[in-house]
Amino acid sequence: ASVFAAVQMAPRDPILGLNEQFNADPNPAKVNLGVGVYFDDNGKLPVLACVAAAEKQLLEASKPKGYLPIDGIAAYDKAVQGLVFGAGSEVLQAGRVATVQALGGTGGLKVGADLLKKLNPAARVLISDPSWENHRALFTNAGFEVSTYPYYDAATRGIRFDAMLAALKAAPAGTIVVLHACCHNPTGCDLTPAQWTEVVAACQAAGLVPFLDMAYQGFGEGIAEDGAVIGQFVASGLQFLVSTSFSKSFSLYGERVGALSVVCADRDETTRVLSQLKIVIRTNYSNPPTFGAQLVATVLTTPALRAQWEEELAGMRLRIRAMRAALVEKLAAAGVPGDLSYITRQKGMFSYSGLSAEQMQRLRSEFGVYGVDSGRICVAALNSKNIDAVAKAIAQVS
Ligand code: PLP
Repeated sequence: ASVFAAVQMAPRDPILGLNEQFNADPNPAKVNLGVGVYFDDNGKLPVLACVAAAEKQLLEASKPKGYLPIDGIAAYDKAVQGLVFGAGSEVLQAGRVATVQALGGTGGLKVGADLLKKLNPAARVLISDPSWENHRALFTNAGFEVSTYPYYDAATRGIRFDAMLAALKAAPAGTIVVLHACCHNPTGCDLTPAQWTEVVAACQAAGLVPFLDMAYQGFGEGIAEDGAVIGQFVASGLQFLVSTSFSKSFSLYGERVGALSVVCADRDETTRVLSQLKIVIRTNYSNPPTFGAQLVATVLTTPALRAQWEEELAGMRLRIRAMRAALVEKLAAAGVPGDLSYITRQKGMFSYSGLSAEQMQRLRSEFGVYGVDSGRICVAALNSKNIDAVAKAIAQVS
């Protein structure tokens, strides 16, 4: 018999499966609100002008393609640190942060998970209920037992904050707690700065290991505002991890540009942690790819390009906001009853619509509007041409 004869068919990735279904749908009016990707008002994946300029520079220079260091491009890692922790911040000056280039935000999470597994194999992982689908799978595959802390409250379309805090306080010391730094996926519900203060204190009191997933910095309130939570964790003196993704904020999805930063107690510890991160990387894929990180490093370290990026990122953030406001207006006009203000309160790319799996299926089969069965729709895929049809379709199934 074949070596692989006993291999079972794995379940399809729910979101990528939805994409396949979308591509096969002959409906000319179909709209894909499933995948978490930002499209411009023409429904196109944007090429940021700052990225195009950096790309031109790099192509003209036509550099040789040698191996990168295991931890990636030094200028890139430094630029990531500046963005996440604030350039010149005390924690950076003290040499307390180990940062490595990673294959997207997912790669940063996996490198961090592998490091943590080596340090404390018995630790458990807590993720939010609900969370990005891949959090559970990723930490489970890294060998951890994964459970959830309360997060979303369907009744108030808010956060079950007291229950969340109680769960964190009750977790055994050493528990890894995965937190969405901003623009919570899938709910769009973020903690307030005051709530973060309490979460930081709870992590500290219970001796937890916070792992902040920052996949959408700049999509909520702004680059600094969305990163402010990191400052709160630094100020607490806790050790923690941060994964960074530039997939969305630079529209560089396929280039796989991300990072992992580990905040340590002191410079010496940071050096030791970095050496272990390098082993994790070396034994998985040896070293990261060059191009995407070069683009991001060029943009972040060239003042004119950086200013352009900040403007373009603000443009994406504001367009999403405008789509939220328009959706509320159009749903109300189409006769959807009740308070719809939750749509404009939610942050980031997604809206947790509250629609049932059955309603989401009707949206697909009757109207060609594709969202996730959980009711999550990608607001960043709405545009001035498709929003009327989407609002009408939602009204029809509501
Ligand atoms: N974390 C969250 C919460 C996400 O939503 C995503 C992407 O959808 C990621 C991580 C992964 O990002 P990347 O594509 O850079 O691996």
